[in-house]
Formats: sequence, structure tokens, C-alpha cells
Amino acid sequence: MTDILDRTKIYVDGAWIESTGSGRIDVLNPATEELIGTVAEGTVEDVDAAAKAARKAFPAWSALSGGERAEYLSKAAAIIAERTDDLAALVSQDMGMPIGFAKPVQIGMPLANLNAFAELARTYDFDAHEVGNSLIVREPAGVVGAITPWNFPLHQVVLKVGGALAAGCTVVLKPTEVAPLITYALADIFDEIGLPAGVFNLVSGYGPVVGEAIAGHPEVDMVSFTGSTRAGKRVAIVAADTIKKVSLELGGKSANVILDDADLEKAVTDGVAKCFINSGQTCSALTRMLVPAEKVDEAAAIAAAVAAHFPVGDPTQPTSVLGPLVNANQLGRVRGYIEKGVSEGATAVVDGRETGLASGYFVGPTVFANVTEDMTIAREEIFGPVLSIMGYKDEADAVRIANGTEYGLAGGVWSGDPDRADRVARQLRAGQVEVNGGAFNTNAPFGGYKQSGVGREAGTFGLEEFLEIKAIQR
Ligand code: NAD
Repeated sequence: MTDILDRTKIYVDGAWIESTGSGRIDVLNPATEELIGTVAEGTVEDVDAAAKAARKAFPAWSALSGGERAEYLSKAAAIIAERTDDLAALVSQDMGMPIGFAKPVQIGMPLANLNAFAELARTYDFDAHEVGNSLIVREPAGVVGAITPWNFPLHQVVLKVGGALAAGCTVVLKPTEVAPLITYALADIFDEIGLPAGVFNLVSGYGPVVGEAIAGHPEVDMVSFTGSTRAGKRVAIVAADTIKKVSLELGGKSANVILDDADLEKAVTDGVAKCFINSGQTCSALTRMLVPAEKVDEAAAIAAAVAAHFPVGDPTQPTSVLGPLVNANQLGRVRGYIEKGVSEGATAVVDGRETGLASGYFVGPTVFANVTEDMTIAREEIFGPVLSIMGYKDEADAVRIANGTEYGLAGGVWSGDPDRADRVARQLRAGQVEVNGGAFNTNAPFGGYKQSGVGREAGTFGLEEFLEIKAIQR
């Protein structure tokens, strides 16, 4: 039993203050179902105070040089690096990723992004272009409202807050209500390094109240949202009333196209891992594995064998590869999708519905073969460790199936011929495509086509999201 963290204050204008509301949100450890913390259920009035504080802080913060802003980001990054073990333990308890993975993924990755944003703030040329008699300057967008989900709870915050602060914007953040504790640790760090009051503000609470108040607030110039396509649509609608700049990082149903000349064993082995990472709670997970129709059985056998190397269990144990799903809702949802897969006629090669674990929201690795395009599990984002193997006739058919989704976040291509792989990668309507297992690049632009979103995060493109463009004619 851990201590219950009391994080019922909100961070506004450089101080931890009481919310104007008395509502509270309980935070549970998904592995034990125990209460580990409490946060405030923020209000519309809290958002108003935070947005005004961010507006007040904007002129001075945006007037600093990039190098001066970078100093703050670097200081925060240094403290995160120092506290990696404690922060990884906190995020692991909050959302369930096993500790051995939480360290590099949940802390290491955002740390790399924060350092990269500091470097960009130092080096980016905000006055880089001339067009005829015009000087094109890039200026901070203003007050940024950031709304984030629970699956990579620090990473998604850093992509927004790090990029926005580097650009010279000030921020009002509403973190996920499901796994919010790590963002309080980040706010503590900003407080500790003396980030000027109002530059960063945190209001916890529920999406339809706090999130929509941010999206609709007249003092918020831009809203940057990561989460489900359903909530993203709502944010765009609410933001439309004040014509905000809106950036959306939404869901996915990404395809991994394994071509007939690929090393099947290698491609399937890598593909299973790319589906199961973070218990499948990854927006860019490669959840549809496309293989030549005659190789479906062989691929399924390989995938089943690989799935055995993904033991599900207590996230504090080094032997656990998959932790629990984040909450009871997700557990019900993912089990429901597995039931649908079975009832709609897919072959459950591995069925993870029953894990035998006494408590926690666990689902084991699940592999379906003979999944067809019309099946629910081929169309909807499941957000659990569920792989769908689908057969295709030829290369053109594979590309058609891969693109036959309303989403367009990510994809994979495997081929023995690099030119062919590159050609197919270019035909996928998605924002990130990895070829033959190409490594994730934290500085590459991340974002979606179609209903996977609008805009890009990380690196230079991620910084530029938070900039307006001005032409000065001379
Ligand atoms: P969610 O949409 O339920 O919640 C995300 C955030 O939006 C939370 O902070 C929530 O409180 C808030 N929210 C909910 N309703 C809102 C509303 N009406 N107005 C404003 N804010 C609202 O998503 P989730 O369950 O936390 O996260 C899982 C989803 O996020 C998945 O669909 C996943 O694909 C997506 N995701 C996308 C990316 C990406 O970069 N594309 C990254 C991670 C997760």
C-alpha cells in the first residue's frame, strides 16, 4: 500500500491554489485497483483564472530570446533526468506500464524531446525567410491550451508544453484525469526552477468541463489536443467559435504491410512487438498485420509463438512485459472487442481475455487470424494488446486494405527490396511509416492524415506548430 497523494490544488500564476470547486477525482493503480491519489475536479472558473494568468505572462515570456527560454527547459530536463527512477515509478503506478519499460519510454523519451526543444529554442532562426520585398518572421502563437491523454502521460505533455514554451507561448494544461500524477511532478519541477508565474498553468478535471472551457476560452489562441477522435472532433467544434488554431493528435488503426519477399519470421516478430507495446495502448500501434493470403497460417503460428514472450503481470516485476490496461472501462472495452472478433468469425489463435490474475485490469496478448475488412476488429481502434492478421491478394490489394480506414496515423512496410518498400511506404496515407522495422525517431514529425488528426508534433515541425507567420513588407 502506497501513500495516497493529495494533489487537489491547481497550479495557476506561479502558485498552487485551491480549485473554485469542491469536486475530487480519485486516481487508481490499475494493477492493484488501489487508490493512489486524488486530484481536483477543476471548473470553468479555474480555467478562466489560468487563461488570464497565461495571457498576462505572454508578453514578457515571448520577449525573451530563444536561448533564455532554453535555459528554463534545460534546467527542467536536468531535474527530470536526476529523478528518472522516482518519476518512472510514479507513472508506472499511475498507468500500469512495467517499470523496466516505463523508465526509457515514459521518462526517457519525453526527456529527449524536452532537451531537443531546448536546443531548438537556442538554434531556430525565427526570421529565416525573405520573399521578394518581404521578411517572413515567425512569432509565438500566444496562449496555448493543451489537453492530453493517459497512455504516454508525460510524453504527450512535453510534446505540447516543451514545444510551446520553446516557441515563446504560455500554456494552460489539462492533463488526463485517468493518470494525471506525473504532470503534477512536472509542475513541481517548473515551480522549483522558477519558471516565471503564469507561463505554465495546470488545471485538472474532466474533458467536457475543463477541456471544453479551454477550447472555447477567448484568451486561448491555440488548442493542442491529443486523445480520441471522438473528443478531438468536439474540441474542434468548440474551438471554432473563437477561430482558434487547432492541432489534433487522434486515434489510429495502423497497418503493417508484410510483402511477399520479406523475411516473414523477422517481420512478424517485430510486428507483434509494435502492436503490443504499452499493452496495445499506443495510438500508432501496428494493429493490422497484412500478409500474403497464402501465408496467413504461417504468420499466425509465428505470432502465437512470439506472443508467449509477452507475459502479462505485476508492473513492479522485471519479468512482466505487459502491464494492466489503464482502467476498468478499458478492460471492458478490450474484452468486448475480443468477443466481437470471435463472434464475427475471426480465428482467435491466442485469446488473452482470462489471465488468472486476482486483481488489476489485465488482458493478455491476443492474436486473431483470418480477419476480414468488414469485421469490427479490423475497423475500430481497440487500444489493447490485440493483433489482427489479414490476408491480401497482391501488392495493390495490400495498399488498398492498408488505406481502407478512416484513420491515417502510422504504418509499416516489410520487403527484401528497399526500393519496393520505399514505393509502398509512399503509397500509405499515414503520417509515419517505418520500413523493415526502422526505429522510432523522437525528432521526426509525428501526426496523422485523415481522422488521425491535424498538425505535427516533435522536432522542428513540432515547434513550428506553435508559431504564427508574419510577412513584413519593406
Ligand atoms: P480521450 O479523448 O478520452 O481523452 C483525452 C483527453 O481529452 C483527456 O484529457 C480528456 O479529459 C479530454 N477530453 C475528453 N472529452 C473532451 C471534450 N469533450 N472536450 C475537451 N477535452 C476532452 O482519450 P484517452 O482515452 O485519454 O486516450 C486514448 C486516445 O488517445 C486513443 O484514441 C488514442 O489513439 C489517442 N491518442 C492519440 C495520440 C496521437 O498522437 N495521435 C497519442 C496518444 C493517444
